[in-house]
Amino acid sequence: MTNALPDDSRDRSAESLAAAAAWPNGTLEVICGPMFAGKTSLLIARLAAAKARGQSVAAFKHASDTRYHATHLATHDGQQIAAMAVADPIELFARLGKAQVVAIDEAHFFGAWLWDIIVPLLRDRRTLIVAGVERDHVGRPFEPFPRLLVEADTVTKLGGPCKKCGKPAIHSQRMSEDASRVVVGGSELYQARCRECFGKP
Ligand SMILES: [Zn+2]
Repeated sequence: MTNALPDDSRDRSAESLAAAAAWPNGTLEVICGPMFAGKTSLLIARLAAAKARGQSVAAFKHASDTRYHATHLATHDGQQIAAMAVADPIELFARLGKAQVVAIDEAHFFGAWLWDIIVPLLRDRRTLIVAGVERDHVGRPFEPFPRLLVEADTVTKLGGPCKKCGKPAIHSQRMSEDASRVVVGGSELYQARCRECFGKP
């Protein structure tokens, strides 16, 4: 009788982790930083470059995010590219077709669950570009970014100026008392802040 597992004493959890990490042809780029740092602009530029190379692209945003445009990724200064608004990672997975390059904006709206579709897409040799805010409104790690940042092939951290003092910002300060973790808003609700100014009025 043959045994598929040659040595039962091996650390199977380490083995399954190694298997999960084996995605020889897919790549994951993470673009993160506080709000108003230019993440969506960079995502749009990446997609434009991929299209210029002749690659098929699919861009996604969360259905709750209709701040600038419902069917496009759009920036404060008017750049835009067509995108599908989806409610959750399952709908995203169902709608991406054969696109070689898959972009996901504002990934923090999807939560930790997003990670579950990242590994299958990498194994399917897709190029993934995931953008969003890696710290929540009180500065805690914001899922799914802790995992994404560990597993990424490339990380680009952007930071605009602190709204209060002009130094490089890393935080997105919510200017209301709402304690919910996910609250969609723009400059009427959030300010980019440096470490020193974060938490001040
Ligand atoms: Zn500051």
